[in-house]
Amino acid sequence: MSFDNLGLHAALTRAVSEAGYAEPTDVQRAAIGPALQGRDLTVAARTGSGKTAAFILPALEAVRAAREAAGPRGGASGAGRGPRVLVLTPTRELALQVAKATLTYGRHVPGLRVATVVGGVPYGAQLKALRGPLDVLIATPGRLIDHLGSGKAELEHLQMLVLDEADRMLDMGFIEDIQHIAEATPQTRQTLMFSATFGGHVGKLASRLLRSPQHIDVASHTDTHENIEQRLHWVDDHQHKNALLDHILTERSVDQALVFTSTQRDADWLADRLAELGHAVAALHGGMPQGRRNRVLQALRSRQLRVLVATDVAARGIDVPTISHVINYGLPMKAEDYVHRIGRTGRAGRSGLAVTLAERRDASQIHRIQHYTTQRIAAATIAGLEPRRAEPKPGMPTREGPSRSDARRPGPGGKPAWGKPGMRGGRKPAARAFPA
Ligand code: ADP
Ligand code: MG
Repeated sequence: MSFDNLGLHAALTRAVSEAGYAEPTDVQRAAIGPALQGRDLTVAARTGSGKTAAFILPALEAVRAAREAAGPRGGASGAGRGPRVLVLTPTRELALQVAKATLTYGRHVPGLRVATVVGGVPYGAQLKALRGPLDVLIATPGRLIDHLGSGKAELEHLQMLVLDEADRMLDMGFIEDIQHIAEATPQTRQTLMFSATFGGHVGKLASRLLRSPQHIDVASHTDTHENIEQRLHWVDDHQHKNALLDHILTERSVDQALVFTSTQRDADWLADRLAELGHAVAALHGGMPQGRRNRVLQALRSRQLRVLVATDVAARGIDVPTISHVINYGLPMKAEDYVHRIGRTGRAGRSGLAVTLAERRDASQIHRIQHYTTQRIAAATIAGLEPRRAEPKPGMPTREGPSRSDARRPGPGGKPAWGKPGMRGGRKPAARAFPA
């Protein structure tokens, strides 16, 4: 099936073919038709599967059709009347990326107006964009709430609301903001919700915001990610972990690497350390000013950086196809973030390598990740850098039992998590074997 059979206007299929897309991905094939028919949708699909186009193309079709109906002088929705489409994303970086994709897919929609409203940047340009005619607004919830509160943003003419990475937005505590934003929009709007999972709070939010939605589940977190090879290295201590990281980063197969840490402090520390070793590296985390965050991501895209050391702020959505390696230097707090992290490589059909460096005290978290993905991560070693200690038994609970791994992390101002004595002894028999 080609893009031509999905019911999109030629202005959109042309842009898609100019972007080099020969045919729609599975999620695009499944979601674009029902979205064009005006259905509310919940959509779960793998990282890197092309979800952005799956919601932006129908959104642009709605914009285009509304303009056509308004006649030759209809233009964008009138000044100060707010956008027709609103996309909410959890992070600022993702908002900017979605905006860029909107301009790419919408390049043949005459006079298309796209604006972003994100935190951490000056209000001036955003206020100007909100005053003018606007088709598509892409926002992080916090800053949009500010603009709604001051009456600068209006959503009365909204036709379509899209929540990208909805589960992440809820994790970040945006549930009330999202509901508040939704209340400012017409009841007649169409709502599309994209999320890794639809359990728990996300399910509740979906049932509140969506009207008789169609559920699309193209491939879930238990997918095998054939194009992403996953490896697990057990490390003895902090020094051993660094030696493995250094070795991996000097391999020639590394085009660009994204190294995840558990805390902002670790990200800064590790980026400094790698810079001293001569790597073209920078840190990215939520504690940095937004201007710097944007420049760092830009430097990664333009390949001035070979290594990015980031917290989970970079785990979702970021699409830099040249990332060949994802390295988990510190484990994610939540098992599902593992899936999102490794999904930063192997984008758009390429292959990638995801390496996890785990200390023995991380065994229970590794177990949770494997339980979540229902796949075992194969343990690997590097010649000369083998761990001295035996691999932990599968499913070995740590002394602390199934507590969240962040309990061991330092709070703000604390010491980095490493260097503490590992959780030794107290081994109990395996509670649950790894799935085969
Ligand atoms: P997701 O949001 O599902 O993680 P993205 O929307 O960021 O994925 O898309 C991942 C990559 O795939 C992007 O680089 C995008 O340009 C590319 N892509 C999207 N749709 C297609 C397609 N139909 N054919 C080829 N590449 C595509
Ligand atoms: Mg995405």
